[in-house]
Amino acid sequence: MKTYDLIIIGAGPAGLAAGIYAGRAMLDTLIIEKDIEGGQILQTSEIENYPGSLEVESGPTLIDRMDAQVKKFGVDKVTATVTDVVLDGQVKAVRCGNEIFQAKTIIIAGGAAAVSLGIEGEEKFRGRGLSYCATCDGPFFRGLHVYVVGGGDSAIQEALYLTKFAKKVTVIHRRQELRAAKSLQEKAFKNEKIDFMLDSVIREIHGGDVIEGMTLENLKNGKTTEIKADPNDGTFGIFVFAGYKPKSELYSGKLHMENGYIVTDEDMHTNFPGVFAVGDIRKKSLRQVATAVADGAIAAVQAETYIESL
Ligand SMILES: Cc1cc2nc3c(=O)[nH]c(=O)nc-3n(C[C@H](O)[C@H](O)[C@H](O)COP(=O)(O)OP(=O)(O)OC[C@H]3O[C@@H](n4cnc5c(N)ncnc54)[C@H](O)[C@@H]3O)c2cc1C
Repeated sequence: MKTYDLIIIGAGPAGLAAGIYAGRAMLDTLIIEKDIEGGQILQTSEIENYPGSLEVESGPTLIDRMDAQVKKFGVDKVTATVTDVVLDGQVKAVRCGNEIFQAKTIIIAGGAAAVSLGIEGEEKFRGRGLSYCATCDGPFFRGLHVYVVGGGDSAIQEALYLTKFAKKVTVIHRRQELRAAKSLQEKAFKNEKIDFMLDSVIREIHGGDVIEGMTLENLKNGKTTEIKADPNDGTFGIFVFAGYKPKSELYSGKLHMENGYIVTDEDMHTNFPGVFAVGDIRKKSLRQVATAVADGAIAAVQAETYIESL
């Protein structure tokens, strides 16, 4: 069986950046991705904070360029879901169902995913009025009222984006103050299409084939409110941006973790020699594209150094 120099698990910004650095350093590299390349940033239509993006940049356009760079440096890619890993020893193994791949080093770039609300009606209406991706589903809500759940950067960014389609956007946040960056908050407060229901949570979503109403609870006074769809519309949309969970179950009991996030040193080393973790899956203070690609670059260089030391 072939032994790669490096296997990268995940082709989000962190994995692609690692691929670019590894390919350019002539490491024989394989990227394993279960979906299409790009990860979470594919969900956003506007990235204002990625250094060098003066023009409006979308997640997909940024990823297209990163992916082209990965191809240019001759990195192999397979579409498969990693189901198990063996991280000790000089040759590590990555299992994808019945298939096994081997490498001297592994970079884990599995990222994170949106957290569900865990409320009555959420599963029933997922994809039928309830979404976790404004870029994917925003245009379906043209002319309708949409509710955005959350108060962080993603929630406010996506609420602003949704005003392009929706007739009105109401942000529902469980606390009295938003957590989003002040600049985003200012934009949202100035936007006439956006209003806020603070100290509030959705308890239940109801309807037939589409969302027709929901029950909200005010956490300060315990009062519940019934929201009904405008009779002229018959429905409304709900977009959930209520936090993220690292995709790290695979590594549980193997790697050091805190709250599910993989612990590394500043050079991305995990507690297994030759195994690195990068991007949103690792314990860090800022989960963004800029920090994900920085992690990827560092880990690829460290993988090269590790291989030279063998
Ligand atoms: C709506 C939204 C808006 C955002 N806006 C911005 C912004 O404006 N600016 C900014 O800098 N950041 C933004 N972010 C954050 C940014 O997208 C993330 O920080 C970044 O994508 C993290 O990159 P990553 O490569 O670590 O992980 P991810 O992007 O999560 O990619 C991980 C990849 O690994 C794959 N994977 C996971 N497990 C497996 C497995 N077992 N087998 C195979 N493949 C696997 C996944 O399918 C995925 O493609 C936004 C995020 C969201 C959701």
